[in-house]
Amino acid sequence: MSTTTRILSGYEPASVLSFFEDICAIPHVSGDERAIADYIEAFAKARGLSCYRDAVHNVFIKLPASEGHESAPAVILQGHTDMVGEKTADSTHNFATDGLKLKVDAEGWISATDTTLGGDDGIAVAMMLAILDNPPQPHPAIECLFTVSEETGLEGAWAFDPVAMEATAHTMINLDSEAEGVLTAGCSGGMRTDITLPVTCESAEGVAVRVTLDGFTGGHSGVEIHEGHTNAIKAMGRILSALTEPYDFSLISVSGGGKDNAIPRDCTVTVDLRDTAHAEDFARAVTAEAEKLRSEPNMIPADKSFTCTAEILPDPPVLSMDDKTTHAVLSLLTLVRDGVLSMSAHVKGLVAHSRNLGIIKTLTDGEGKPTAVKFSMSTRSASNGHLDDSQRELTALAAVLGGEATHRARYPGWDYAPVSPLRDLWTRVSEGIYGVTPRIEVIHAGLECGILCDKLGEMDIISVGPDMRDIHTPREMLSIPSVERTYRLVCETLRALA
Ligand SMILES: [Zn+2]
Repeated sequence: MSTTTRILSGYEPASVLSFFEDICAIPHVSGDERAIADYIEAFAKARGLSCYRDAVHNVFIKLPASEGHESAPAVILQGHTDMVGEKTADSTHNFATDGLKLKVDAEGWISATDTTLGGDDGIAVAMMLAILDNPPQPHPAIECLFTVSEETGLEGAWAFDPVAMEATAHTMINLDSEAEGVLTAGCSGGMRTDITLPVTCESAEGVAVRVTLDGFTGGHSGVEIHEGHTNAIKAMGRILSALTEPYDFSLISVSGGGKDNAIPRDCTVTVDLRDTAHAEDFARAVTAEAEKLRSEPNMIPADKSFTCTAEILPDPPVLSMDDKTTHAVLSLLTLVRDGVLSMSAHVKGLVAHSRNLGIIKTLTDGEGKPTAVKFSMSTRSASNGHLDDSQRELTALAAVLGGEATHRARYPGWDYAPVSPLRDLWTRVSEGIYGVTPRIEVIHAGLECGILCDKLGEMDIISVGPDMRDIHTPREMLSIPSVERTYRLVCETLRALA
């Protein structure tokens, strides 16, 4: 027994919180899950439970059904062992060696001093260990899957081998949600696409004008794609394409955005304006186009405070892209479909298919001469058909404009199932105990469930969890009363499944 004070002792559910406090003492940021896997494996060995650990440190523990309930279908409980390691600017915390310093406020919110708490998803690990330690009676066969590196690319889920681990369940409760009273019932899949258009250069003849758009709100390309944020790269395409008729210019360089899964907030393009006498006019015309954009009735208010500058550079340009290249780049910016592509026919308000053009950049050779313009985008849908469609669409678009598309990092979605006995059961149990009907949500972003569902075959899945706030930040908090209610729901659902 440790002699240090147990911050969480005295709170309920005692067993879950005791395991959680143990977990918080073990460093376990993404990619560093060996020690926590050791702890879980030792837990299983001490109790004589069948335990399988794979090369990436995913752990799978099986608990047989209680006597007389062997014919009840097995259920998988699942959560991830890794946490995001974020700390305050002045913190000296070392995530590789130090345990977290827990505290609890008057309302029962647990947090860690100066760091993330890892309630996401340590509380799932703790709940699974508490269930394996002292299961609700009666219970079906329970298979607990502890995955690694969820936060950095769902790597544990990708590595999970249901055959090697002898997983048999077709029902799964994922414990990686962060809002009590919400039941997640589906998620999207997705893929990344890069289109490169080759650049032919020629000697520049005019004056260089740099156009910069900045200060758009941006956002997550999945869960915020329906909110109407302006894509800074598409906005740049609109402004420049509107000026190709009155002005004779070609592109020198383009760059915008930073991540293919974030809606871009900025974009900068430098052009070679051949009609040097009208540089001031051109700069004014750019601003006028930006004002037209700002007055679009459909623009969200927060985006209206974007800035647009058109700056005539003192040094004459040396090289610019030729007209054909310029035309191809501007055409792509006009033609590529971005934002919400279609809505779900089954779930009201759910985006079914979306795309985000997240990054544009000019690739150069060793001497700084442009060789290609690269566009990186992320497409999402739970439907494989949509992703196939998108793949063909972007391949065709690139080919028509003389470029090439490559698709990568494709991952499967978890399609909303119109019929789900587990969802109905969880809802009944929640209504029975708390009189609360959970809100069913399907999210337009990737979860481990999509990959696991694809690997396990026919699965009935729900994703649930207790209330957390500000996850992935040093302000992260986890509600003890919510853990207690959620844990009881999980236990009662297991009892009902038996
Ligand atoms: Zn998580």
